[in-house]
Amino acid sequence: MEGLKNEMKMEFSASSSNEGFARVAVGAFVAELNPTVDELADIKTAVSEAVTNCIIHGYEQKGGSIWIHCSTEGKQIEISVMDVGKGISDIARARAPMFTTKPELERSGMGFAFMEAFMDAVEVVSEPRKGTCVTMRKTLGEG
Ligand code: ATP
Ligand code: MG
Repeated sequence: MEGLKNEMKMEFSASSSNEGFARVAVGAFVAELNPTVDELADIKTAVSEAVTNCIIHGYEQKGGSIWIHCSTEGKQIEISVMDVGKGISDIARARAPMFTTKPELERSGMGFAFMEAFMDAVEVVSEPRKGTCVTMRKTLGEG
């Protein structure tokens, strides 16, 4: 079955208690591709950052639903993390390192920078009051 397309979708509550669950679930799903320890850590960190953003920014800690869609094909991994929360008005500005709209929560504005550093590509689709979808791609064995 190796190399065939594989898919996983999940929905869970936007609660910080689910951050660990989300990173472990995605990690378990991609494990069959035999990532290195570093690759697996990178993927889990990127997922954590995206999920935390949905909880803190998308839903401003008031709860809601988060969806993760993960697919693999050969050594390629694609992960989308989506909320239907607040949305982002200026995506380019939001992606800039050290930009945060929540300095009072001691956020450092490095989430997107980490996602970009740890994954090969990061795509952000967002609309104010509609929500945000972050899609990240990584091909294993290219580090
Ligand atoms: P850090 O991740 O370092 O704790 P941060 O979350 O503010 O800080 P980023 O993850 O880089 O930094 O996100 C930058 C900004 O983009 C956020 O401050 C927020 O304004 C916006 N943002 C990111 N994700 C979402 C989201 N899912 N919904 C709404 N706004 C978002
Ligand atoms: Mg963040």
